[in-house]
Amino acid sequence: MKLLVIGSGGREHALAWCLAKTPGLQKVFVAPGNAGTAADRALENVAITDLDALADFAEEEKVSLTIVGPEAPLAAGIVNLFRARGLKIFGPSKEAAQLESSKDFAKRFMARHGIPTARFASFTDRASAHAYVDQQGAPIVIKADGLAAGKGVVVAMTLVEAHAALDRMLPENGACAPEGGTPTQVVVEEFLEGEEASFIVLVDGKDVLPLASSQDHKRIGDGDTGPNTGGMGAYSPALVVTPEVHARTMREIILPTVRGMAAEGIPYTGFLYAGLMIGKDGSVKTVEFNCRLGDPEAQPILMRLKSDLFMLLDHAVAGRLDQVEATWDRRVALGVVLAAANYPGAPRTGDVISGLPKGGASSEDSHVFHAGTREHEGQTVTAGGRVLCVTALGDNVKQAQKRAYNLIIGIHFDGMQYRHDIGHRAVPR
Ligand code: ATP
Repeated sequence: MKLLVIGSGGREHALAWCLAKTPGLQKVFVAPGNAGTAADRALENVAITDLDALADFAEEEKVSLTIVGPEAPLAAGIVNLFRARGLKIFGPSKEAAQLESSKDFAKRFMARHGIPTARFASFTDRASAHAYVDQQGAPIVIKADGLAAGKGVVVAMTLVEAHAALDRMLPENGACAPEGGTPTQVVVEEFLEGEEASFIVLVDGKDVLPLASSQDHKRIGDGDTGPNTGGMGAYSPALVVTPEVHARTMREIILPTVRGMAAEGIPYTGFLYAGLMIGKDGSVKTVEFNCRLGDPEAQPILMRLKSDLFMLLDHAVAGRLDQVEATWDRRVALGVVLAAANYPGAPRTGDVISGLPKGGASSEDSHVFHAGTREHEGQTVTAGGRVLCVTALGDNVKQAQKRAYNLIIGIHFDGMQYRHDIGHRAVPR
């Protein structure tokens, strides 16, 4: 049996690494992959990104199942294309992926189905947006509609910041967008207070299988300071997701979403990620939906998965998720992202990485997942913003932290930056 993973980040390395354990497997192809997936003998990189060419490849190689990592191919309709050609693929259709690709769609969908989220209003016109912000006051959140890799959101603590963000995101003449294009749109949201967590589930169109909970660290700097990034580290499980919060999230957010999508004629299949804001009173609100596994959440979550991932995904594609359960390692997994110089701005690339453990697995309890890396003249060099995710298991958060940070000591590239406090919220617990 052959499998195909689409993408090149740390999440895709973790997916491919996990799928490589499938009994009876011949190979996991990764398109396009990175230096880490290239170095692993069970995996094979394929230098294709064009969607039609990927479908041709899956057909020629008789790939049993394709798993899509990132949001861009989902929003571009890769699942529609594969399904139309009779190829098995795990992920939402282009229409269902709007839960992530359009914040306006997601907010209106949540309003229609009574799913708890921040109050909002959408604008294409600058003057109306400014007036609304003045009326609401700060703190307030301004979001560009569309995919922005975590960088299209401004949590404005003052009105000055909020107005500046609107000026940046909306063209001066409002709805008069470039000819033929959709007008730029912003969503202005109520500021939510609480602690964030990632709640990721598998969906087969009607049934849901929750994965282990996790918590990301979005800001670049220690103590959650500085600009937002794609994610600087994560751990699983997130203790803030108590059994009560878990039950409430399923009841108030996940199940109404899956049922609502089916009722609207766009059944959802794939990973569904709800970014939660958990209030002190135990209330749960949806910050956002993503139509994929989180990155870096995937790395610690998949290190803890004891079940056969292919078997779970295969059941999801067949609409039989109600027949399976997932089992998890009881230990904590924690991953620290090593990022390139200048990230989250345009990252510097081409820096030589030294001290990488051979094959990625330094021990049974840890793994160095690659993201923005490539081979160049016999060396592994940086090739993107987030370069590596050093992930370790431990009996508790402190032990997992210690193992991950000890591993980092041996790894080096010029300009390397990382947070020193991944898991800080869980330590006092
Ligand atoms: P990503 O690409 O990382 O998924 P995104 O561009 O979809 O991000 P959001 O997840 O909506 O953006 O927001 C990014 C971050 O901004 C959130 O994780 C949260 O920390 C903060 N944020 C967003 N909305 C709110 C809100 N209403 N109240 C408080 N904080 C918010």
